[in-house]
Amino acid sequence: MNITVQKTTMPKAKPAEGTALGFGKIFTDHMFVMDYSVSKGWHDAKIVPYGPIEVEPSCAVFHYGQAIFEGLKAYKTPSGDVLLFRPEKNMERINISNDRLCIPQIDIPFCVKALKTFVDIEREWIPSGEGASLYLRPFIIATDAVLGVHPSYTYKFFIIASPSGQYYPEGVNPVRIWVECKYVRAVKGGTGFAKTSGNYASSLRAQKEAEDEGYTQVLWLDGIERKYIEEVGTMNVFFVIDGEVITPALQGSILPGVTRMSAIELLNQQGKKVTERPITITEIYKAHKEGKLSEVFGTGTAAVISPVGELNYGGKKIIINDNKTGPIAQKIYNELTQIQTGKAADKFGWTQRI
Ligand SMILES: *Cc1c(COP(=O)(O)O)cnc(C)c1O
Repeated sequence: MNITVQKTTMPKAKPAEGTALGFGKIFTDHMFVMDYSVSKGWHDAKIVPYGPIEVEPSCAVFHYGQAIFEGLKAYKTPSGDVLLFRPEKNMERINISNDRLCIPQIDIPFCVKALKTFVDIEREWIPSGEGASLYLRPFIIATDAVLGVHPSYTYKFFIIASPSGQYYPEGVNPVRIWVECKYVRAVKGGTGFAKTSGNYASSLRAQKEAEDEGYTQVLWLDGIERKYIEEVGTMNVFFVIDGEVITPALQGSILPGVTRMSAIELLNQQGKKVTERPITITEIYKAHKEGKLSEVFGTGTAAVISPVGELNYGGKKIIINDNKTGPIAQKIYNELTQIQTGKAADKFGWTQRI
């Protein structure tokens, strides 16, 4: 399939060097779009000026949420090259999400190529500076103009791009996390492992209540026993207990993060074993009480590594590592971001130059 390119005739002004970009607030000049129909499969791949799209109010995605999305970043290296970090992992995950949501499979190599073609066109939009990148948001929506509850027969795949700064305005500083006891995010058999919009729609109430209490995000517990730790709002989570790095095992209700996978591979390569197993919130509090809990941190594309300085579980607050970034989180952050931005040799072959 060819990708047709229609360049904008009205390029937007790019943010000035040093502007606080925030996260996902500004969009580039173009977007990638591709359609699906049963008779044609995925077709009509094109890069066109970024702008509003027209669909009918009956469009399936508005009513039943048949949609999936991804998030990854393009980085500028000190020499001005452009790097993508493990883009096939995101495209592979699209197909895992698609399968769960009854959305047709995409052609992974083609979509990686489309992503690269798109980023190449938008390369002037990639910001430089600590923590800055071009955030890429591939997503698919169901577009049948029909109200019956049924998987759509038509879809649209988009990639949009947003020059972004650090995810948390606080930077790589510990965040406060609310352990969620009232609401649940996912259960086995549900959609927790899929990157689907509905997971976020149902998480907003908990996120809002946590924010009202002064917390950055929630830490989800399992939906049945409400004791096993799952993940943080937009991140997977790691604990360091007695020197051992532990992260909840992926058992169908947790989003399998590319950053999680990369952190595990980095730690393993440094000779630090990472244990993937079920872990309870009680075990965390016990380890803290015994002085064995040295670090807690989240991993995700948006924030990369986010140390956790405080947990609040049912009103019981614990402070982790004196509310300071721990050495393991700091080391993974440094190594990952240096590989992503081409400042350190990429022994793993994770980055791809555009
Ligand atoms: C995207 C996401 C993550 C992090 O995944 P990465 O591939 O590391 O960005 C973690 N949890 C949830 C719920 C997510 O949506």
